[in-house]
Amino acid sequence: MWCVFCERNTSQSRSVEHIIPESLGNKEHILERGIICDNCNNYFASKIEGPVLSSIHFQNLRSRQGIANKRGTIPFEYGIFPQAGIPIALRASLDQGTSVGAWHEKDDARFVQTLMGIGKGTFLVPLSAPVDERLLARFIAKIGVEAYVAKALEADITVDQIIASEELKSIRRFVRRGDWPEKWPVSRRRIYHEEAIFSEGESAYQVLHEYSLLVTDEIEIYAVICIFGEEFAINLGGPSTDGYGRWLSANGNRSPLYI
Ligand SMILES: [Zn+2]
Repeated sequence: MWCVFCERNTSQSRSVEHIIPESLGNKEHILERGIICDNCNNYFASKIEGPVLSSIHFQNLRSRQGIANKRGTIPFEYGIFPQAGIPIALRASLDQGTSVGAWHEKDDARFVQTLMGIGKGTFLVPLSAPVDERLLARFIAKIGVEAYVAKALEADITVDQIIASEELKSIRRFVRRGDWPEKWPVSRRRIYHEEAIFSEGESAYQVLHEYSLLVTDEIEIYAVICIFGEEFAINLGGPSTDGYGRWLSANGNRSPLYI
């Protein structure tokens, strides 16, 4: 067995790879042991997934949605207390309401004094915040390549064939090494509310994440990934989303996830 990213022998590797990070609530979409080596698995966790998921945008999303990390902790939500001019940390729990404190320990006294001194005030909590563009692109590209690998293996395409495929070489390198190209665009838009409830027969459910592959008429392959209603699409064959824009125009801007 060879690692899909670095092509090293994986016979000693122990980790299974989560296509979507566990910290976003994924327990079912995984690649079996031996498909991604331990080195690549650790690298993705510490250099790509960790920084993206601890950005304010994703940390606040995980906090709002009450998704625990591997250690069972729900992250704090980041906010601002304008009257005190300090960042704050909020954490909601089902049985104890929401606890609020200063984000930095050094601001504790100021937080309490300001709170005691004002009759009425405001906490501002961002629902969305910028994420480093390049890091986010590598994060989405990693998910996209792995989603492709999962589908390919189901269709009896071998890891050797995936590694040999010229079309995937650039994006595999972009994910694993990140040294080239400078920019790999990602199409990003909201297709449903993060709290949206879907129903099927008697049951109702919330969609945490979903993904699919789209092959356009121009024979480009896009990985289309939705995380709490936010759709990300990336071209697995090259750094351009122009073809996706044309596909959307031709299909009434519907998401390929729902066709
Ligand atoms: Zn590897």
